[in-house]
Amino acid sequence: MNRKRIILLGASGSIGRQSLDAIRAFPERFELVGIQVHRDIGALGALAAEFPEARLALSAEEAALASEGFPSSRDLLRGRLGLAELIGETEAELVVNGIAGAAGLEPSLLSLKAGKDLALANKESVVMGWALLEEAATASKRGIIPVDSEHAAVFQLINRVGREEVEELTITASGGAFRDRPLSELAVASPAEAATHPNWKMGRKISIDSASLANKGLEVIEASRLFGFPPEKVKVLIHPESLVHALVRARDGSLYANMSAPDMRLPILNALAYPEVLASAFGRLELGGHSLEFREPDPKRYPLLGLAYNALADGYGATVAYNAADEVAVAAFEAGAIGFLDIPGVVEKTLDESWPRSLPSLEAVFETDSLARKGARAAAEEWRGY
Ligand code: MG
Repeated sequence: MNRKRIILLGASGSIGRQSLDAIRAFPERFELVGIQVHRDIGALGALAAEFPEARLALSAEEAALASEGFPSSRDLLRGRLGLAELIGETEAELVVNGIAGAAGLEPSLLSLKAGKDLALANKESVVMGWALLEEAATASKRGIIPVDSEHAAVFQLINRVGREEVEELTITASGGAFRDRPLSELAVASPAEAATHPNWKMGRKISIDSASLANKGLEVIEASRLFGFPPEKVKVLIHPESLVHALVRARDGSLYANMSAPDMRLPILNALAYPEVLASAFGRLELGGHSLEFREPDPKRYPLLGLAYNALADGYGATVAYNAADEVAVAAFEAGAIGFLDIPGVVEKTLDESWPRSLPSLEAVFETDSLARKGARAAAEEWRGY
């Protein structure tokens, strides 16, 4: 059997490193043919040695970025154009997009346009550019396979239960670092505390977003668009154990749950192998001795979740603004300029502006993104003044 050829974007990040584990576990099934990192040349050098046939891209635009220690025998594609060449001109069946942030959107579009399936971990691609992504996927007849644990779980459930049988989705949230802390203590919570995730091994921004539920807000937006369910049919439950990743409700009212250990390598491996199913190399969850708890999220504790539903109902401009404002607010929180409880205020103030319902081009997306960032920075400044 031919090996599936894979291009991995964001190889030095959290999703990238765990994707490499999945690829290494099945050398007879997967062949890594392209590797991109943004600026971590050390990581790229090590991967260059491990995967001697792979094409390599360093996408940071700083021309002066040293490639010391990098094997001189290897070509290095550089900058935004280099990344486009890696995606467009490397023969592969699948692109795994583990790039963090808004920078992931264009590579997602390029992958689909180049006729490759897209294993998508980059939330911003869906939150900012779903209309464009859907259009590109339809035109090229390629698939978008979700990697995020909740969406990977919904994808599995819908495939197994049948789309026409499913009437409602639920994604779970651990509740993040502050789940059991009194609300009154959160005003003075530090960025380091917020970034401590109880269950999942993830990057810093997403861990802070888990504590505020902004991450779940982004995931509600993603789930609604990826699977074509209206906002009121996408629910969230706090589930501290992170063993149930998602549930679907069938027409007869019963619930089907997808459960596994909280290990990102499992959904990544499923996405790499899809539509095939491989026996997991990463263990099996046994339920004996576990108890499972579920609670409705408290809107007072997690205002960013409600704001995400509002943005989703408002349209594409508002979801771009939600994402941008949260990034700005989290950066201001990390810099000590605002408190943890001020993050939702900055997002809400930004969303109060009026935002376009549709964004027909990448330019329109990024124009809205930069307007929202400007608005959010002004809101964060103002907050600081109180
Ligand atoms: Mg998730």
